[in-house]
Amino acid sequence: MLPSERLEWVEGWGMAVGGAGYVYRPTTIEALQEILALARRKSVPIALRGSGQSYGDAALRPESIVLDLSRMNRVLEWDPGKGVIDVEPGLTVSGLWRYALGDGWWPPVVTGTMQPSIGGCLGMNVHGKNNWQRGTLGEHCKEFDLLLANGEVRTVDRASESDLFHAVIGSFGQLGIVTRARLQLKRVHSGLVEVKAESVPNLKAMLEKVDQAKDEWEYVVGWIDGFAKGRKLGRGLLHYARHLELGEDPVPAQGFRAEIQDVPDTLFGVVPKTIMWRLIKPWSNRPGMRLINLAKFLMGSTLQEGACYRQSLAAFSFLLDYVPSWKRIYEPGGLIQHQSMVPYGAAEEVFSRQLELSQRAGSPSFLVVLKRHRPDDFLLSHAVDGYSMAMDFPVYASRKDRLWKLVRQLAEPVVAAGGRFYPAKDAAIPADLYRATFTHGELDRLCELKTTLDPDHLLRSAFADRMLWASDP
Ligand SMILES: Cc1cc2nc3c(=O)[nH]c(=O)nc-3n(C[C@H](O)[C@H](O)[C@H](O)COP(=O)(O)OP(=O)(O)OC[C@H]3O[C@@H](n4cnc5c(N)ncnc54)[C@H](O)[C@@H]3O)c2cc1C
Repeated sequence: MLPSERLEWVEGWGMAVGGAGYVYRPTTIEALQEILALARRKSVPIALRGSGQSYGDAALRPESIVLDLSRMNRVLEWDPGKGVIDVEPGLTVSGLWRYALGDGWWPPVVTGTMQPSIGGCLGMNVHGKNNWQRGTLGEHCKEFDLLLANGEVRTVDRASESDLFHAVIGSFGQLGIVTRARLQLKRVHSGLVEVKAESVPNLKAMLEKVDQAKDEWEYVVGWIDGFAKGRKLGRGLLHYARHLELGEDPVPAQGFRAEIQDVPDTLFGVVPKTIMWRLIKPWSNRPGMRLINLAKFLMGSTLQEGACYRQSLAAFSFLLDYVPSWKRIYEPGGLIQHQSMVPYGAAEEVFSRQLELSQRAGSPSFLVVLKRHRPDDFLLSHAVDGYSMAMDFPVYASRKDRLWKLVRQLAEPVVAAGGRFYPAKDAAIPADLYRATFTHGELDRLCELKTTLDPDHLLRSAFADRMLWASDP
């Protein structure tokens, strides 16, 4: 039985874009097949949704069926000897690491929040702070089951169906529904990582340090003060981390326990972290954020300069999760993020330009994060041999048009440099620029596969319509 049709407001994680859709939350493949049949009968498109952690419009479509897969979240098979796990698509990164860590395994690629589902992570082919070393999550997927728009289930294996495998992963739910994924996890000898912190005076130094550290450290991430100008443009803080080797942690079993991993939910043992966003909210304007960025840089470059310490894997990987609901500081307009990936040699010029453009437009980014990437074999890969810079911007209704214009300006030099954009973060990139980043017939190939696998274009999303289906690639 299908649940009754009910319109619900569904929005991107950034709260800036959304629409009302008919939300279904199936728990079985048979229910999914019934919904597909219903959609075919009524000619209503379906947008797939995992945990809805994409910032923009990738997991929604107004006046369509929104297929929320979060209740299909079981572990189906687990081999604790080999670290191979079969999961349903709605299992979250949080559910995955909590399940496997006790046996000494950790997901080889994790996102900056543990909320995303594995289906959504494969839909976007997510990367972590170790993209240079480990690639994307898709590189650790051995096979998956794909439910096609006609209701047929196909098992897609990396080796024997390489073309389809590399097209489905990263094509944001446009070719079929991943209903089971087999992942290879990574052996860890401790629940702790060793972390080193360092400050850098400008963008050039930031890029150099990140590049130098990429082979030595498993994880490298840079934070940039989006308000700093002139000679200080791009100054920031770097965090490097590595897993502990066998024997470095005398009591590994202790660190594997979830309660050791999770950081306390109170500040100084008293103030509940659930109210922290309310304390930060009065500062979520340009002068306030300038001060917060400055204070963070000064503290990092003095008190914490050169600090080396051990931290739990979860606390290092998902720090933002430990300030619950922090995005609410951006209410009521929400936020957007722009994450461009730029080839190594062009990164300094392009990122300097992006920082300057945002400052000149009166919209300096409140939060800027830099990572090192490597290319991969997926059809719609967002990664290049270079860096990505992610910039968060608050959305104010009165300045929305100007912000969207700024995103075009930020994106233009990326295209000129042969870069790419990350769909999971986008709400505003113009379609002509997004499409211009694919220069080897990738979008034609996607269209061919779409015609074969989903000829009625049942699987859609606001993002895919905006970028691909609204006009013929
Ligand atoms: C605070 C924060 C930090 C983040 N940090 C990172 C990061 O470090 N690295 C990174 O790469 N990303 C990062 N992201 C982005 C996030 O990881 C991706 O958007 C991811 O896709 C979210 O997973 P989800 O389950 O919420 O998917 P959704 O956002 O719900 O969906 C993502 C896409 O996958 C499709 N999809 C969902 N389920 C399926 C399925 N079963 N089969 C096929 N397609 C499906 C959807 O249609 C959609 O196009 C971050 C997001 C937030 C909010």
